[in-house]
Amino acid sequence: TDDFFKNVVSHAKEYGFVFPSSEIYDGLSAVYDYGQLGSELKNNLKQYWWKAMVQLHENIVGIDAAIFMHPTTWKASGHVDGFNDPMIDNKDSKKRYRADQLIEDKIARYETDGKTEKAQQLQADLNAALNDDDLPRLKTIIEEHNIVCPVSGTKNWTEVRQFNLMFSTQMGASAEGADTVYLRPETAQGIFVNFLNVQKSGRMKVPFGIAQIGKAFRNEVIARQFIMRMREFEQMELQFFVRPGTELEWYSKWKETRLKWHLALGGDTAKYRYHDHVKLAHYANAAVDIEYEFPFGFKEVEGIHSRTDFDLIQHQKFSGKKLQYFDPEINQNYVPYVIETSIGLDRLFLTVLCNSFEEQDLSTEDKKDSRSVLHFHPALAPVKAAILPLTKKDGLPDKAREILNRLKIDYNVQYDEKDSIGKRYRRQDAIGTPFCITVDYQSLEDDTVTLRHRDSMEQERVAAVDLEKIISDLVGW
Ligand code: ATP
Repeated sequence: TDDFFKNVVSHAKEYGFVFPSSEIYDGLSAVYDYGQLGSELKNNLKQYWWKAMVQLHENIVGIDAAIFMHPTTWKASGHVDGFNDPMIDNKDSKKRYRADQLIEDKIARYETDGKTEKAQQLQADLNAALNDDDLPRLKTIIEEHNIVCPVSGTKNWTEVRQFNLMFSTQMGASAEGADTVYLRPETAQGIFVNFLNVQKSGRMKVPFGIAQIGKAFRNEVIARQFIMRMREFEQMELQFFVRPGTELEWYSKWKETRLKWHLALGGDTAKYRYHDHVKLAHYANAAVDIEYEFPFGFKEVEGIHSRTDFDLIQHQKFSGKKLQYFDPEINQNYVPYVIETSIGLDRLFLTVLCNSFEEQDLSTEDKKDSRSVLHFHPALAPVKAAILPLTKKDGLPDKAREILNRLKIDYNVQYDEKDSIGKRYRRQDAIGTPFCITVDYQSLEDDTVTLRHRDSMEQERVAAVDLEKIISDLVGW
């Protein structure tokens, strides 16, 4: 599985999906760029989410709030005081770690060594210490379990300290009077502060939702597993405003709806599960993660929280503005309760890569053969079809370009005339193109082409005029 993940990561780079940021300068830790195919895939994922959430729900609208927000926003939300990770430094290697993650790694090692009871005991200790925000206790656990620095191999640790994950910068041209502003660590607050603007201008009636896709920034203490934990990432969030008392009903509904959405992407059902939170965040009265089984284990991809009226009440308090809704059905004013669904777009992207990637053995008795293929759902595929003239002469390229020029109006398509047709098929398989359209001599006579399917590698003869319809039937949801 280690090799599988390594292959996914190198495939993503080799074919233009994901590059390390500023790679010519040796990269920037936990920051990545999406390449020519990655940005197409990412856009398709955004569209799929936006369509499912905004377009298909009469009572959900989308916004695009700024990344910078008034600094008081983050006092009200609790991020200035509470958005911390427990951090510890090794004095010899000068490396910084998350104390809880060092302990988690030890638990995993106990487990692989078959020391199940020890692992469970340590997990319980860790949970208790995190629950109580007991930093000295974390240090004691690290010492008691002989946890050493992975780099220096020593136990020469500093105290455990809280480390705030928000990035800050200065706004304003002159140093004096300049205000500290933050790069938002989540998109949710941009929705809460616009609650009344949207409700009034859109004449929205509770229950209704506000959706948003946008960048978020967290100064993660440690970054690992490729685009799993980044310092700059993208979130797709829905805040759904409901009448108090109905929130748990809506919570169950969204919990179910969101899992169905993930499964419709075409992944293996067994790789998804719910993880109900036992320890709830201070603002929540119910919370669950949708987890996906990555090659390195089950990890959160999406969080669904019943956030009560915590955020709106906080913003009411800090802004002095009433954030209430008059409900004509019950003739009452109230601060709505909120159900949040929050998904990391980059993590979703990684689930899709892991779900789709295959090194397929195609060997026969006489010949060894294999191919790399990305089995994307056709709707997600960055390139929908490749148009390939069998040869570079006799008018075949012209005929192929004629088809290309028609299809490119509706679809992202590619033209390729270099190398043998077999090689060209393999290149398209490797980037997940669901269809190859081959133009040959017969095409010039009867206007038919060969349609080759990525997954089955089967070929059929179809009329060129039917191509739009055939593709549109298969790339829809
Ligand atoms: P984790 O426990 O993995 O740090 P979290 O519980 O802090 O995640 P939330 O604050 O609930 O995450 O954020 C919602 C979603 O945003 C997560 O489910 C995840 O998909 C995504 N996300 C959070 N932090 C990162 C990150 N550093 N890089 C990429 N995606 C992230």
